[in-house]
Amino acid sequence: MKKLKIFDLTKQYSTLSKELKTKIINVLESGKYILGENILRFEKKFSKMIGTKYAISCNSGTDALILSLKAMDIKKGDEVITTPFTYFATAEAIVLCGAVPIFVDIDPLTFNINTKLLEKAITKKTKAILPVHIFGQPSEMTKIKSIAKKYNLKIIEDCAQSIGSSISKKMTGSFGDFGCFSFFPTKNLGAAGDAGMIVTSNKTYADRLKKLRNHGGLVRNKHEMIGLNSRMDEIQAAILLIKIKHINKFNKGRNDIARIYDRLILNKRVTTPYKIKNAYHVYHQYTLKVKNRNKFIKHLQKNDVPFGIYYPEPLYKKKALKSICSNKDLQTVKQVAKECISIPIYPELGKKCAENISSIINQYK
Ligand SMILES: *Cc1c(COP(=O)(O)O)cnc(C)c1O
Repeated sequence: MKKLKIFDLTKQYSTLSKELKTKIINVLESGKYILGENILRFEKKFSKMIGTKYAISCNSGTDALILSLKAMDIKKGDEVITTPFTYFATAEAIVLCGAVPIFVDIDPLTFNINTKLLEKAITKKTKAILPVHIFGQPSEMTKIKSIAKKYNLKIIEDCAQSIGSSISKKMTGSFGDFGCFSFFPTKNLGAAGDAGMIVTSNKTYADRLKKLRNHGGLVRNKHEMIGLNSRMDEIQAAILLIKIKHINKFNKGRNDIARIYDRLILNKRVTTPYKIKNAYHVYHQYTLKVKNRNKFIKHLQKNDVPFGIYYPEPLYKKKALKSICSNKDLQTVKQVAKECISIPIYPELGKKCAENISSIINQYK
Protein backbone atom coordinates (compact mmCIF):
# COMPACT_ATOMS: atom_id res chain seq x y z
CA MET A 1 0.00 0.00 0.00
CA LYS A 2 2.83 2.36 -0.83
CA LYS A 3 0.88 5.16 -2.45
CA LEU A 4 -2.17 5.38 -0.20
CA LYS A 5 -2.81 8.76 1.41
CA ILE A 6 -4.96 9.83 4.37
CA PHE A 7 -7.08 11.60 1.74
CA ASP A 8 -6.74 11.87 -2.00
CA LEU A 9 -8.49 14.69 -3.82
CA THR A 10 -7.22 13.78 -7.27
CA LYS A 11 -9.50 10.72 -7.55
CA GLN A 12 -12.68 12.78 -7.15
CA TYR A 13 -11.40 15.37 -9.58
CA SER A 14 -10.71 12.81 -12.28
CA THR A 15 -14.31 11.57 -12.22
CA LEU A 16 -15.76 15.08 -12.55
CA SER A 17 -13.01 16.82 -14.50
CA LYS A 18 -14.87 17.36 -17.78
CA GLU A 19 -17.87 19.08 -16.20
CA LEU A 20 -15.66 21.06 -13.82
CA LYS A 21 -13.43 22.39 -16.59
CA THR A 22 -16.42 23.49 -18.69
CA LYS A 23 -18.07 25.34 -15.80
CA ILE A 24 -14.84 27.00 -14.66
CA ILE A 25 -14.19 28.27 -18.19
CA ASN A 26 -17.78 29.54 -18.38
CA VAL A 27 -17.15 31.63 -15.27
CA LEU A 28 -13.86 32.95 -16.66
CA GLU A 29 -15.55 33.95 -19.90
CA SER A 30 -18.53 35.55 -18.15
CA GLY A 31 -16.38 38.28 -16.57
CA LYS A 32 -18.53 38.04 -13.42
CA TYR A 33 -16.37 36.68 -10.63
CA ILE A 34 -17.98 37.70 -7.33
CA LEU A 35 -21.61 37.43 -6.14
CA GLY A 36 -22.94 36.34 -9.49
CA GLU A 37 -25.44 33.75 -10.61
CA ASN A 38 -23.50 30.67 -9.50
CA ILE A 39 -23.48 32.00 -5.94
CA LEU A 40 -27.23 32.63 -6.00
CA ARG A 41 -27.94 29.19 -7.41
CA PHE A 42 -25.64 27.44 -4.95
CA GLU A 43 -27.10 29.29 -1.96
CA LYS A 44 -30.61 28.37 -3.06
CA LYS A 45 -29.71 24.73 -3.56
CA PHE A 46 -27.90 24.62 -0.23
CA SER A 47 -30.72 26.05 1.90
CA LYS A 48 -33.11 23.62 0.25
CA MET A 49 -30.83 20.69 1.05
CA ILE A 50 -30.42 21.67 4.73
CA GLY A 51 -34.02 22.73 5.16
CA THR A 52 -33.53 26.35 6.21
CA LYS A 53 -35.02 29.50 4.71
CA TYR A 54 -31.70 31.13 3.91
CA ALA A 55 -28.13 30.25 3.01
CA ILE A 56 -25.47 32.94 2.87
CA SER A 57 -22.17 32.02 1.30
CA CYS A 58 -18.83 33.34 2.52
CA ASN A 59 -15.11 32.83 2.25
CA SER A 60 -14.52 29.95 4.70
CA GLY A 61 -15.95 27.89 7.51
CA THR A 62 -14.02 30.07 9.92
CA ASP A 63 -15.66 33.20 8.49
CA ALA A 64 -19.06 31.48 8.67
CA LEU A 65 -18.53 31.20 12.44
CA ILE A 66 -17.22 34.76 12.80
CA LEU A 67 -20.07 36.23 10.73
CA SER A 68 -22.69 34.30 12.71
CA LEU A 69 -21.26 35.47 16.03
CA LYS A 70 -21.20 39.05 14.72
CA ALA A 71 -24.75 38.76 13.36
CA MET A 72 -26.01 37.92 16.85
CA ASP A 73 -23.87 40.72 18.26
CA ILE A 74 -21.42 38.69 20.32
CA LYS A 75 -18.88 41.04 21.82
CA LYS A 76 -16.34 41.69 24.55
CA GLY A 77 -17.42 40.31 27.90
CA ASP A 78 -19.64 37.60 26.44
CA GLU A 79 -19.11 33.88 26.92
CA VAL A 80 -19.74 31.17 24.35
CA ILE A 81 -19.86 27.53 25.42
CA THR A 82 -18.15 25.06 23.13
CA THR A 83 -16.12 21.86 22.96
CA PRO A 84 -12.35 21.59 23.46
CA PHE A 85 -12.17 18.68 20.98
CA THR A 86 -12.38 20.46 17.62
CA TYR A 87 -10.30 22.35 15.11
CA PHE A 88 -8.74 25.59 16.40
CA ALA A 89 -11.00 27.77 14.20
CA THR A 90 -14.05 27.06 16.39
CA ALA A 91 -12.52 28.82 19.39
CA GLU A 92 -10.56 31.31 17.29
CA ALA A 93 -13.81 32.71 15.86
CA ILE A 94 -15.20 33.27 19.37
CA VAL A 95 -12.04 35.07 20.51
CA LEU A 96 -11.90 37.19 17.35
CA CYS A 97 -15.35 38.53 18.26
CA GLY A 98 -14.03 39.53 21.69
CA ALA A 99 -15.79 36.78 23.62
CA VAL A 100 -14.38 33.98 25.78
CA PRO A 101 -14.77 30.34 24.82
CA ILE A 102 -15.92 28.22 27.75
CA PHE A 103 -14.92 24.63 27.19
CA VAL A 104 -17.15 21.82 28.40
CA ASP A 105 -15.81 18.27 28.49
CA ILE A 106 -16.79 15.76 25.82
CA ASP A 107 -18.72 12.51 25.78
CA PRO A 108 -16.24 9.59 25.76
CA LEU A 109 -18.23 7.69 23.12
CA THR A 110 -19.29 10.33 20.58
CA PHE A 111 -16.46 12.85 21.25
CA ASN A 112 -19.12 15.59 21.06
CA ILE A 113 -19.86 18.10 23.83
CA ASN A 114 -21.20 16.32 26.93
CA THR A 115 -24.69 17.75 27.36
CA LYS A 116 -24.88 16.48 30.95
CA LEU A 117 -22.17 19.00 31.87
CA LEU A 118 -23.50 21.87 29.80
CA GLU A 119 -25.85 23.55 32.26
CA LYS A 120 -23.15 23.88 34.91
CA ALA A 121 -21.06 25.99 32.53
CA ILE A 122 -23.76 28.64 32.02
CA THR A 123 -23.20 32.01 33.71
CA LYS A 124 -24.76 35.48 33.44
CA LYS A 125 -22.30 36.21 30.63
CA THR A 126 -23.23 33.19 28.49
CA LYS A 127 -24.77 34.23 25.20
CA ALA A 128 -24.56 31.15 23.01
CA ILE A 129 -23.77 27.47 22.72
CA LEU A 130 -21.54 26.40 19.86
CA PRO A 131 -21.68 22.63 19.41
CA VAL A 132 -19.46 20.94 16.82
CA HIS A 133 -20.67 17.80 15.06
CA ILE A 134 -17.26 16.28 15.28
CA PHE A 135 -16.10 13.83 12.60
CA GLY A 136 -19.59 14.00 11.05
CA GLN A 137 -21.66 12.64 13.94
CA PRO A 138 -24.44 14.96 15.16
CA SER A 139 -24.29 16.41 18.68
CA GLU A 140 -27.33 15.90 20.92
CA MET A 141 -29.31 18.76 19.45
CA THR A 142 -32.63 18.06 21.18
CA LYS A 143 -30.96 18.34 24.58
CA ILE A 144 -28.90 21.37 23.55
CA LYS A 145 -31.99 23.12 22.20
CA SER A 146 -33.94 22.58 25.40
CA ILE A 147 -31.08 23.99 27.50
CA ALA A 148 -30.71 26.96 25.14
CA LYS A 149 -34.42 27.67 25.40
CA LYS A 150 -34.39 27.46 29.21
CA TYR A 151 -31.55 30.01 29.51
CA ASN A 152 -32.43 32.09 26.45
CA LEU A 153 -29.21 31.31 24.60
CA LYS A 154 -28.54 31.19 20.88
CA ILE A 155 -27.14 28.12 19.13
CA ILE A 156 -24.48 28.18 16.44
CA GLU A 157 -23.81 24.77 14.93
CA ASP A 158 -20.31 24.11 13.62
CA CYS A 159 -21.17 21.82 10.70
CA ALA A 160 -17.75 22.01 9.04
CA GLN A 161 -17.44 18.22 9.26
CA SER A 162 -21.10 17.24 9.18
CA ILE A 163 -22.64 18.22 5.85
CA GLY A 164 -25.49 15.82 5.12
CA SER A 165 -25.63 14.33 8.61
CA SER A 166 -28.99 14.29 10.36
CA ILE A 167 -30.95 13.31 13.44
CA SER A 168 -34.27 11.60 12.65
CA LYS A 169 -33.92 12.94 9.08
CA LYS A 170 -33.47 16.56 10.23
CA MET A 171 -30.19 17.96 8.90
CA THR A 172 -27.45 19.32 11.11
CA GLY A 173 -27.33 23.07 10.58
CA SER A 174 -31.13 23.34 10.77
CA PHE A 175 -31.40 22.90 14.55
CA GLY A 176 -29.65 26.06 15.72
CA ASP A 177 -30.05 29.75 14.97
CA PHE A 178 -27.08 29.40 12.63
CA GLY A 179 -25.43 26.47 10.89
CA CYS A 180 -21.85 27.03 9.70
CA PHE A 181 -20.33 24.96 6.91
CA SER A 182 -16.85 24.71 5.42
CA PHE A 183 -15.98 23.70 1.87
CA PHE A 184 -12.26 23.43 2.59
CA PRO A 185 -10.96 20.95 -0.02
CA THR A 186 -10.74 17.95 2.33
CA LYS A 187 -14.23 18.34 3.84
CA ASN A 188 -17.01 15.98 2.65
CA LEU A 189 -18.09 18.63 0.14
CA GLY A 190 -14.87 20.35 -0.89
CA ALA A 191 -14.17 23.33 -3.13
CA ALA A 192 -10.87 23.93 -4.94
CA GLY A 193 -9.86 26.49 -2.35
CA ASP A 194 -11.49 28.16 0.64
CA ALA A 195 -15.26 28.61 0.85
CA GLY A 196 -18.00 28.53 3.50
CA MET A 197 -21.72 28.88 4.13
CA ILE A 198 -24.09 29.98 6.87
CA VAL A 199 -27.67 28.73 7.02
CA THR A 200 -30.45 30.30 9.08
CA SER A 201 -34.22 30.59 8.99
CA ASN A 202 -34.23 34.01 10.65
CA LYS A 203 -34.70 36.86 8.17
CA THR A 204 -33.09 39.51 10.37
CA TYR A 205 -29.97 37.36 10.74
CA ALA A 206 -29.92 36.54 7.01
CA ASP A 207 -30.08 40.25 6.12
CA ARG A 208 -27.30 41.09 8.58
CA LEU A 209 -25.13 38.24 7.30
CA LYS A 210 -25.43 39.44 3.70
CA LYS A 211 -24.20 42.87 4.78
CA LEU A 212 -21.53 41.62 7.17
CA ARG A 213 -19.85 39.48 4.49
CA ASN A 214 -19.70 42.46 2.14
CA HIS A 215 -18.07 45.28 4.15
CA GLY A 216 -21.26 45.97 6.06
CA GLY A 217 -23.52 46.87 3.15
CA LEU A 218 -25.33 45.59 0.09
CA VAL A 219 -24.87 48.66 -2.10
CA ARG A 220 -21.61 50.30 -3.13
CA ASN A 221 -20.56 53.09 -0.73
CA LYS A 222 -23.34 52.31 1.74
CA HIS A 223 -21.71 50.78 4.80
CA GLU A 224 -24.23 50.28 7.59
CA MET A 225 -21.97 48.29 9.89
CA ILE A 226 -18.40 47.10 10.23
CA GLY A 227 -18.14 43.92 8.25
CA LEU A 228 -15.62 41.72 6.49
CA ASN A 229 -14.57 41.00 2.96
CA SER A 230 -15.82 37.43 2.97
CA ARG A 231 -17.50 36.44 -0.27
CA MET A 232 -17.36 33.10 -2.02
CA ASP A 233 -15.86 33.22 -5.51
CA GLU A 234 -18.02 32.42 -8.52
CA ILE A 235 -15.53 29.74 -9.56
CA GLN A 236 -15.87 27.97 -6.20
CA ALA A 237 -19.66 28.21 -6.41
CA ALA A 238 -19.60 26.71 -9.92
CA ILE A 239 -17.45 23.83 -8.65
CA LEU A 240 -19.64 23.26 -5.60
CA LEU A 241 -22.82 23.31 -7.72
CA ILE A 242 -21.44 20.33 -9.59
CA LYS A 243 -20.21 18.49 -6.51
CA ILE A 244 -23.33 19.02 -4.40
CA LYS A 245 -25.26 16.83 -6.84
CA HIS A 246 -23.13 13.96 -5.58
CA ILE A 247 -22.99 14.70 -1.84
CA ASN A 248 -25.40 11.90 -0.88
CA LYS A 249 -23.34 9.45 -2.91
CA PHE A 250 -20.10 10.76 -1.34
CA ASN A 251 -21.51 10.36 2.18
CA LYS A 252 -22.91 6.92 1.36
CA GLY A 253 -19.44 5.93 0.07
CA ARG A 254 -17.93 6.99 3.40
CA ASN A 255 -20.59 4.97 5.25
CA ASP A 256 -19.83 1.91 3.14
CA ILE A 257 -16.16 2.13 4.13
CA ALA A 258 -17.14 2.68 7.78
CA ARG A 259 -19.33 -0.46 7.73
CA ILE A 260 -16.36 -2.50 6.44
CA TYR A 261 -14.14 -1.17 9.23
CA ASP A 262 -16.90 -1.68 11.84
CA ARG A 263 -17.37 -5.27 10.74
CA LEU A 264 -13.75 -6.29 10.14
CA ILE A 265 -11.71 -4.47 12.78
CA LEU A 266 -11.67 -6.93 15.65
CA ASN A 267 -8.81 -6.22 18.00
CA LYS A 268 -9.33 -5.78 21.71
CA ARG A 269 -6.66 -3.07 21.80
CA VAL A 270 -8.60 -0.96 19.29
CA THR A 271 -12.02 0.67 19.78
CA THR A 272 -13.99 1.51 16.62
CA PRO A 273 -16.20 4.64 16.60
CA TYR A 274 -19.49 4.68 18.45
CA LYS A 275 -22.56 5.46 16.38
CA ILE A 276 -25.62 7.03 17.97
CA LYS A 277 -29.08 5.74 17.06
CA ASN A 278 -31.57 7.69 14.92
CA ALA A 279 -28.75 9.68 13.36
CA TYR A 280 -26.93 9.66 10.07
CA HIS A 281 -23.17 9.90 10.59
CA VAL A 282 -21.20 11.16 7.56
CA TYR A 283 -17.73 10.00 8.69
CA HIS A 284 -15.63 13.01 7.91
CA GLN A 285 -13.17 10.97 9.94
CA TYR A 286 -13.19 7.36 11.10
CA THR A 287 -11.54 7.70 14.48
CA LEU A 288 -10.29 4.82 16.59
CA LYS A 289 -9.20 4.81 20.20
CA VAL A 290 -6.03 2.90 21.08
CA LYS A 291 -4.30 2.70 24.44
CA ASN A 292 -0.65 2.79 23.37
CA ARG A 293 -0.91 5.13 20.40
CA ASN A 294 2.77 5.50 19.65
CA LYS A 295 3.19 1.77 19.37
CA PHE A 296 0.10 1.57 17.14
CA ILE A 297 1.47 4.36 14.94
CA LYS A 298 4.69 2.38 14.44
CA HIS A 299 2.64 -0.63 13.38
CA LEU A 300 0.69 1.47 10.85
CA GLN A 301 3.86 3.08 9.52
CA LYS A 302 5.57 -0.27 9.12
CA ASN A 303 2.63 -1.37 6.98
CA ASP A 304 2.29 1.90 5.03
CA VAL A 305 -1.14 2.75 6.41
CA PRO A 306 -1.57 6.53 6.52
CA PHE A 307 -3.27 8.06 9.57
CA GLY A 308 -4.15 11.41 11.13
CA ILE A 309 -4.33 12.60 14.73
CA TYR A 310 -7.42 14.76 15.16
CA TYR A 311 -6.89 16.21 17.71
CA PRO A 312 -3.65 15.73 19.64
CA GLU A 313 -4.58 18.07 22.52
CA PRO A 314 -7.61 19.89 23.95
CA LEU A 315 -7.97 23.44 22.63
CA TYR A 316 -7.40 25.06 26.03
CA LYS A 317 -3.81 23.78 25.81
CA LYS A 318 -3.05 25.92 22.74
CA LYS A 319 -0.59 28.71 23.37
CA ALA A 320 -2.93 31.30 21.85
CA LEU A 321 -5.80 30.37 24.17
CA LYS A 322 -3.99 29.69 27.43
CA SER A 323 -4.19 33.23 28.74
CA ILE A 324 -7.81 33.67 27.62
CA CYS A 325 -9.36 30.48 28.95
CA SER A 326 -9.41 29.68 32.63
CA ASN A 327 -10.02 25.99 31.95
CA LYS A 328 -8.50 23.36 34.16
CA ASP A 329 -7.86 19.97 32.67
CA LEU A 330 -10.99 18.21 31.49
CA GLN A 331 -10.51 14.50 32.01
CA THR A 332 -12.38 12.91 29.10
CA VAL A 333 -10.99 15.14 26.38
CA LYS A 334 -7.52 14.73 27.83
CA GLN A 335 -7.82 10.95 27.57
CA VAL A 336 -9.44 10.94 24.10
CA ALA A 337 -6.79 13.32 22.73
CA LYS A 338 -4.17 10.80 23.88
CA GLU A 339 -5.89 7.77 22.33
CA CYS A 340 -7.56 8.99 19.13
CA ILE A 341 -6.27 8.12 15.70
CA SER A 342 -8.05 8.43 12.35
CA ILE A 343 -7.59 6.03 9.45
CA PRO A 344 -8.27 6.74 5.76
CA ILE A 345 -11.92 7.20 4.83
CA TYR A 346 -13.12 8.75 1.60
CA PRO A 347 -15.66 7.63 -1.00
CA GLU A 348 -13.03 6.58 -3.54
CA LEU A 349 -10.91 4.55 -1.09
CA GLY A 350 -12.33 1.21 -2.26
CA LYS A 351 -13.54 -1.91 -0.49
CA LYS A 352 -10.30 -3.84 -1.00
CA CYS A 353 -8.22 -1.11 0.58
CA ALA A 354 -10.51 -0.90 3.61
CA GLU A 355 -10.29 -4.66 4.01
CA ASN A 356 -6.48 -4.56 3.85
CA ILE A 357 -6.31 -1.77 6.42
CA SER A 358 -8.65 -3.74 8.70
CA SER A 359 -6.52 -6.85 8.56
CA ILE A 360 -3.35 -4.85 9.23
CA ILE A 361 -5.04 -3.34 12.29
CA ASN A 362 -6.08 -6.79 13.42
CA GLN A 363 -2.44 -7.91 13.32
CA TYR A 364 -1.53 -5.23 15.90
CA LYS A 365 -0.52 -6.82 19.19
C1 LIG B 1 -12.48 22.94 8.92
C2 LIG B 1 -13.13 23.36 10.17
C3 LIG B 1 -13.39 24.71 10.45
C4 LIG B 1 -12.86 25.82 9.62
O1 LIG B 1 -13.27 25.80 8.28
P1 LIG B 1 -12.35 26.56 7.20
O2 LIG B 1 -13.20 26.51 5.96
O3 LIG B 1 -11.10 25.79 7.06
O4 LIG B 1 -12.15 27.93 7.67
C5 LIG B 1 -14.09 25.02 11.60
N1 LIG B 1 -14.51 24.06 12.44
C6 LIG B 1 -14.26 22.76 12.22
C7 LIG B 1 -14.77 21.73 13.18
C8 LIG B 1 -13.56 22.36 11.08
O5 LIG B 1 -13.32 21.06 10.88
